[in-house]
Amino acid sequence: MAEDCIFCQIVDGEIPARVVYEDADVLAFLDANPLAPGHTLVIPKEHHETLGDVPPESGEMMFAALHYLTPIVEDVVGADGSNVAFNNGEAAGQEVPHVHGHIIPRFDDDGGRPVHAVAG
Ligand code: IMP
Repeated sequence: MAEDCIFCQIVDGEIPARVVYEDADVLAFLDANPLAPGHTLVIPKEHHETLGDVPPESGEMMFAALHYLTPIVEDVVGADGSNVAFNNGEAAGQEVPHVHGHIIPRFDDDGGRPVHAVAG
Protein backbone atom coordinates (compact mmCIF):
# COMPACT_ATOMS: atom_id res chain seq x y z
CA MET A 1 0.00 0.00 0.00
CA ALA A 2 1.20 3.48 -0.84
CA GLU A 3 0.43 6.19 1.67
CA ASP A 4 -1.88 8.90 0.36
CA CYS A 5 -3.01 6.72 -2.55
CA ILE A 6 -6.79 6.94 -2.70
CA PHE A 7 -7.11 3.66 -4.62
CA CYS A 8 -4.98 1.84 -2.02
CA GLN A 9 -7.31 3.31 0.59
CA ILE A 10 -10.28 1.93 -1.34
CA VAL A 11 -8.58 -1.51 -1.44
CA ASP A 12 -8.13 -1.30 2.33
CA GLY A 13 -11.73 -0.21 2.91
CA GLU A 14 -10.68 3.16 4.32
CA ILE A 15 -12.54 5.01 1.56
CA PRO A 16 -15.96 3.70 0.53
CA ALA A 17 -16.49 2.56 -3.05
CA ARG A 18 -19.22 0.88 -5.04
CA VAL A 19 -17.36 -2.38 -5.61
CA VAL A 20 -18.60 -4.45 -8.54
CA TYR A 21 -15.95 -7.19 -8.54
CA GLU A 22 -13.18 -8.41 -6.26
CA ASP A 23 -10.72 -11.28 -6.24
CA ALA A 24 -7.37 -11.87 -4.56
CA ASP A 25 -5.50 -9.59 -6.96
CA VAL A 26 -7.98 -7.19 -8.53
CA LEU A 27 -10.70 -4.77 -7.44
CA ALA A 28 -13.29 -3.11 -9.67
CA PHE A 29 -15.54 -0.26 -8.57
CA LEU A 30 -17.72 2.42 -10.07
CA ASP A 31 -16.02 5.68 -11.02
CA ALA A 32 -17.04 8.52 -8.69
CA ASN A 33 -17.38 10.91 -11.65
CA PRO A 34 -18.77 8.65 -14.34
CA LEU A 35 -18.49 9.57 -18.00
CA ALA A 36 -21.40 7.20 -18.62
CA PRO A 37 -23.68 5.00 -16.51
CA GLY A 38 -21.70 2.01 -15.28
CA HIS A 39 -18.26 3.64 -15.75
CA THR A 40 -16.05 1.16 -13.93
CA LEU A 41 -12.42 1.24 -12.83
CA VAL A 42 -10.35 -1.95 -12.62
CA ILE A 43 -7.20 -1.89 -10.49
CA PRO A 44 -4.59 -4.30 -9.21
CA LYS A 45 -4.75 -4.40 -5.42
CA GLU A 46 -1.01 -3.95 -5.27
CA HIS A 47 0.14 -0.39 -5.71
CA HIS A 48 1.79 0.25 -9.07
CA GLU A 49 1.77 3.66 -10.65
CA THR A 50 1.72 2.94 -14.38
CA LEU A 51 1.34 -0.05 -16.67
CA GLY A 52 5.10 -0.23 -17.09
CA ASP A 53 5.46 -0.72 -13.33
CA VAL A 54 3.06 -3.68 -13.20
CA PRO A 55 4.66 -7.15 -13.02
CA PRO A 56 3.48 -9.39 -15.89
CA GLU A 57 1.40 -11.65 -13.61
CA SER A 58 -0.53 -8.68 -12.19
CA GLY A 59 -1.01 -7.32 -15.69
CA GLU A 60 -2.49 -10.63 -16.77
CA MET A 61 -4.87 -10.62 -13.78
CA MET A 62 -5.96 -7.08 -14.59
CA PHE A 63 -6.51 -7.90 -18.24
CA ALA A 64 -8.43 -11.04 -17.29
CA ALA A 65 -10.71 -8.94 -15.07
CA LEU A 66 -11.23 -6.36 -17.83
CA HIS A 67 -11.99 -9.17 -20.28
CA TYR A 68 -14.46 -10.75 -17.86
CA LEU A 69 -16.13 -7.54 -16.68
CA THR A 70 -16.50 -5.53 -19.88
CA PRO A 71 -19.39 -7.54 -21.37
CA ILE A 72 -21.05 -7.78 -17.95
CA VAL A 73 -20.90 -4.01 -17.41
CA GLU A 74 -22.24 -3.44 -20.93
CA ASP A 75 -25.06 -5.90 -20.30
CA VAL A 76 -26.02 -4.43 -16.92
CA VAL A 77 -26.40 -0.89 -18.27
CA GLY A 78 -27.70 -1.90 -21.69
CA ALA A 79 -24.71 -0.44 -23.53
CA ASP A 80 -23.98 -1.07 -27.21
CA GLY A 81 -20.20 -1.00 -26.74
CA SER A 82 -17.57 0.49 -24.49
CA ASN A 83 -14.25 2.25 -24.39
CA VAL A 84 -11.70 0.26 -22.41
CA ALA A 85 -8.79 2.56 -21.75
CA PHE A 86 -5.79 3.45 -19.61
CA ASN A 87 -4.53 6.96 -19.05
CA ASN A 88 -0.91 5.98 -18.56
CA GLY A 89 1.18 8.67 -16.88
CA GLU A 90 0.49 12.27 -15.99
CA ALA A 91 1.19 13.46 -19.54
CA ALA A 92 -1.66 11.22 -20.71
CA GLY A 93 -4.09 12.59 -18.16
CA GLN A 94 -3.59 10.01 -15.41
CA GLU A 95 -4.85 11.77 -12.30
CA VAL A 96 -4.69 8.91 -9.81
CA PRO A 97 -1.17 7.40 -9.70
CA HIS A 98 -2.37 3.82 -9.11
CA VAL A 99 -2.73 2.02 -12.43
CA HIS A 100 -6.36 1.54 -13.47
CA GLY A 101 -8.31 0.52 -16.52
CA HIS A 102 -11.53 2.37 -17.38
CA ILE A 103 -14.58 0.55 -18.73
CA ILE A 104 -16.77 3.32 -20.16
CA PRO A 105 -20.06 2.06 -21.56
CA ARG A 106 -21.13 3.56 -24.89
CA PHE A 107 -24.52 3.81 -26.52
CA ASP A 108 -25.59 3.98 -30.14
CA ASP A 109 -27.21 7.35 -29.49
CA ASP A 110 -24.34 8.96 -27.55
CA GLY A 111 -22.77 10.46 -30.64
CA GLY A 112 -20.00 7.91 -31.16
CA ARG A 113 -17.30 10.43 -30.29
CA PRO A 114 -13.89 9.13 -29.23
CA VAL A 115 -13.52 8.84 -25.47
CA HIS A 116 -11.21 11.85 -25.14
CA ALA A 117 -13.96 13.95 -26.70
CA VAL A 118 -16.48 12.50 -24.26
CA ALA A 119 -14.14 13.25 -21.35
CA GLY A 120 -13.43 16.77 -22.62
P1 IMP B 1 -7.46 8.94 -14.53
O1 IMP B 1 -7.62 10.31 -15.10
O2 IMP B 1 -7.31 7.89 -15.60
O3 IMP B 1 -6.37 8.88 -13.48
O4 IMP B 1 -8.83 8.58 -13.85
C1 IMP B 1 -9.03 8.65 -12.47
C2 IMP B 1 -10.48 8.35 -12.27
O5 IMP B 1 -10.66 8.06 -10.91
C3 IMP B 1 -11.41 9.51 -12.63
O6 IMP B 1 -12.34 9.06 -13.60
C4 IMP B 1 -12.08 9.85 -11.30
O7 IMP B 1 -13.43 10.19 -11.46
C5 IMP B 1 -11.91 8.56 -10.54
N1 IMP B 1 -11.88 8.70 -9.08
C6 IMP B 1 -11.14 9.56 -8.35
N2 IMP B 1 -11.35 9.35 -7.03
C7 IMP B 1 -12.23 8.34 -6.93
C8 IMP B 1 -12.84 7.67 -5.82
O8 IMP B 1 -12.59 7.95 -4.64
N3 IMP B 1 -13.73 6.68 -6.12
C9 IMP B 1 -14.02 6.33 -7.42
N4 IMP B 1 -13.46 6.93 -8.46
C10 IMP B 1 -12.59 7.93 -8.23
